Amino acid sequence: MPRRLTLTFDNGPWTGATEHLLDFLATRKLKSTFFVVGRQLEDPSARSLVERAHAEGHWIGNHTMTHGAPLGREDGPVRYAEEIGAAQDAIGTLAHPRKFFRPNGGGAMGQHLLCPEAVDYLKRNDFTVVTWTSAPGDWKPPHTHWTKGAFEALERDDWTVLVLHDRFIAPQLDVLARFCDQVEELGVDFVQDFPARCLPIENGKVHDITEEISAIA
Ligand SMILES: [Zn+2]
Repeated sequence: MPRRLTLTFDNGPWTGATEHLLDFLATRKLKSTFFVVGRQLEDPSARSLVERAHAEGHWIGNHTMTHGAPLGREDGPVRYAEEIGAAQDAIGTLAHPRKFFRPNGGGAMGQHLLCPEAVDYLKRNDFTVVTWTSAPGDWKPPHTHWTKGAFEALERDDWTVLVLHDRFIAPQLDVLARFCDQVEELGVDFVQDFPARCLPIENGKVHDITEEISAIA
């Protein structure tokens, strides 16, 4: 089985960035998932970018309403329903039917991501929680060093789920293009779906509690 790579883009949509990324993905015939922040969809021009992404075959997931403090933090229990539910309402019919939700938390796995109440809410409302195997830090200046971590992840795992961000990747599409070329040269297949190990909750059911994800499921 060839190694696989799933591209995901978080925290958008961003007018001035997401459209360039969509152009790139269309040219390369790559399909990804955009984990969007509900509040950002209040801007009609930004919302239209999510509509475009959906129309072009990308999957749209929920990445909270405000991208505030992680939902496993102390104030998580009072905010989880609004952060998850309001964002899902904002995404509306653009949401993937599997109801993808990705918690925010600085790229690190752990109990800070979701409080027990949020986990119950996600299970009760049939969400699919999507984690990742590599968040290589495209948000850290100078923003282009993420490829090192991404290649390390490809080396390490047979199926990599990469977290990148529209806003930081759009200004360096040349770097993304070289990365994609090298990925292809390595014989890695681009896929849109997620490995079971990145789905601690799937359609509301606790899927597969490995050591790595037990912290949040
Ligand atoms: Zn995020």
